[in-house]
Parts: sequence; C-alpha cells; structure tokens
Amino acid sequence: MNILFMGPPGAGKGTQAEYIVNEFHIPHISTGDAFRAAMSQGTPMGVEAKGYVDKGLLVPDEITNGIVRERLAQPDCNAGFLLDGFPRTLQQAESLDGMMTELEKKIDVVFNLVVDRSLLLARLTGRRICKSCGATYHVMFNPPQHEGVCDKCSGELYQRSDDTEEKVGTRLDEYSSKTAPLLDYYRNKGVLKEVNGEQDIQLVTAEISSILRGLGE
Ligand SMILES: [Zn+2]
Repeated sequence: MNILFMGPPGAGKGTQAEYIVNEFHIPHISTGDAFRAAMSQGTPMGVEAKGYVDKGLLVPDEITNGIVRERLAQPDCNAGFLLDGFPRTLQQAESLDGMMTELEKKIDVVFNLVVDRSLLLARLTGRRICKSCGATYHVMFNPPQHEGVCDKCSGELYQRSDDTEEKVGTRLDEYSSKTAPLLDYYRNKGVLKEVNGEQDIQLVTAEISSILRGLGE
C-alpha cells in the first residue's frame, strides 16, 4: 500500500502516521529523514544536496525529487510506504507520478486530515514551556496545576514566539494556499480520502484503518 499523508500543522498527522506504519509494516518516509540519510550515506543525490546545504543554499526541486526517488526505489518500499511532507507543490506531485511510473508503482491513497482552522489555532497556540526546566504544557490539553507555573520546578511558563496566534495563523494560511491545488489534483484522480481530524484520536485511527483495509481487499 503506497500512501501519501497530508494535513495542516496541528492536525495530528504524526500520531496517525506512526500508527499506520506500525500496523501495516511499511516505512515512514519524511523528506527530512530522507535528506539526512542520503547525505550521510553519500548517495549520488545526497552528495549533490550536501553541496547546496554546506553553502547554505536552498536545495533545488530536482534534487529534492531525486532524493525522494532514491528513497522510494529502496527494497524496503516494495511492500508499500507512507510518504509524509512530499509533495508540497503541484510540480512535485507530477514529478512523483513520473517516479511511480518508472518504479512501476502507484499512489493508492492520499489521506488528508481535515481540522477546522479555529481548532488548529487553539491546538498550536496553547503550548507553554518552562523557562527553568523546559517541561512543556498545553493550556487546554495538559494544563499546569497553577496557571503560568511549572508543576515540576515552579518555574515560569512562557509561549515560544513561533506559537503566537499571528505566527501560527500565517503558517496555516501558507499551508492551505500551497496545498489546496494538490488536494484538487488528487481529488480529480479519485485517490483522495478526507478524514475528520477533529474526532478522538482513536476514531481517526479507526477510520483510516478501515479505509486501508477496504483498499487492501
Ligand atoms: Zn519547570
């Protein structure tokens, strides 16, 4: 089963992806990990990528695509894979289709975890960190006993500047404007499955699982 996993920051993608790869015994491929592995193993694309990274330059799309291609061609992907964080653009999606054809594979399903923007904002802006010991809390999901005070060391809790409503809002807007065309692309191909990511984690898992079992039959 070849799976793509999409969903905005804060949708709970990581938890669900981990469940799928364990349940279906397939590798979890993130572009970040694929880059690090390719560079440390010195694969042809890894060497090229390192040249850019070492100079502090942005790695061009062809090389990112090449890294993903190298990774998907490895034998552990023969029984399937879960690809996460790629494609991010329509061009990358088209390039992925080309790789799939070359490798005689296809994308079986694209999951999109759907979560309302206001809930994402609440999830992503609620994090608080202890200044003294680094313990993390969440104002809704894991609040400290006393507001603003660390349970472990009584240190002061603060919000990272990346977690403010303004920064998070910008991140969410960027994500949705970039991925909307991708979702349309996969919807038109008939492989997109939208899953309600606002349900309890276990219900999301159950829904994904039943879709995958249905496809496997
Ligand atoms: Zn603390």
